[in-house]
Amino acid sequence: MTGKMWYEGKAKQVFLTDADDEVIVHYKDDATAFNGAKKGTIADKGVLNNQITSFFFTLLGEHGVPTHFIAREGDRDQRVKKLQIIPLEVIVRNRCAGSMAKRYGREEGEMLAHPTIEFCLKDDALDDPMINRSQITALGLATDEELDTIARLAFQVNDVLSAFLLTKKVILVDFKLEFGKDSAGTILLGDEISPDTCRFWDADTLEKLDKDRFRRDLGHVEEAYHEMLQRLTTRA
Ligand code: UDP
Repeated sequence: MTGKMWYEGKAKQVFLTDADDEVIVHYKDDATAFNGAKKGTIADKGVLNNQITSFFFTLLGEHGVPTHFIAREGDRDQRVKKLQIIPLEVIVRNRCAGSMAKRYGREEGEMLAHPTIEFCLKDDALDDPMINRSQITALGLATDEELDTIARLAFQVNDVLSAFLLTKKVILVDFKLEFGKDSAGTILLGDEISPDTCRFWDADTLEKLDKDRFRRDLGHVEEAYHEMLQRLTTRA
């Protein structure tokens, strides 16, 4: 990490490099929930999420999903393609949980008849409000074609990760993705895929192995992140 800091978010910092189209993402231990209202640190989270994200992005690349990932560099850093991030949080769900269970008065864990996708505007000051496709195109945030690409890729990510995680006895309940455009205007998957951004449940016990342990004060937060990395990297 030698370059100038370009951006600092809640869990990561981004540094410029000598290459115009590449940046270094640095993973911190800082944890936030409820849009920053709850703050803390999770020991070694940056190291674990860097490894977990690198693992998932490599797996997705092998399955033909275009991503920003280039290489992991040491414990906390990743070299990635510089993207112009589309300010949307793209959420895919296989089961009802979190805000969806609350909004529609459903039981946490209820199976959905099919995977579903939703978009939120990425804007902390506005509390990341949900936004529909018509509003996204009307506000000029993305075109219909771009949204078709994003939705296709998001469901492809779901297929690849859900199938892989089941072999590790983990249910992928839901997750959040972010996409951006590279210098050629191609849409790539960006950001991270980790216990910070996914709900992972043990397939046998339904024990939570993700940030809900921090959000809901369930204890054993670090252990859950360690357990996820262990399961991903240990041969079944
Ligand atoms: N999520 C995220 N960042 C956000 C909001 C949600 O990574 O700012 C992830 C979250 O970890 C979960 C999924 O997106 O895996 C769906 O989250 P939900 O809408 O249920 O919101 P939450 O209950 O986490 O507030």
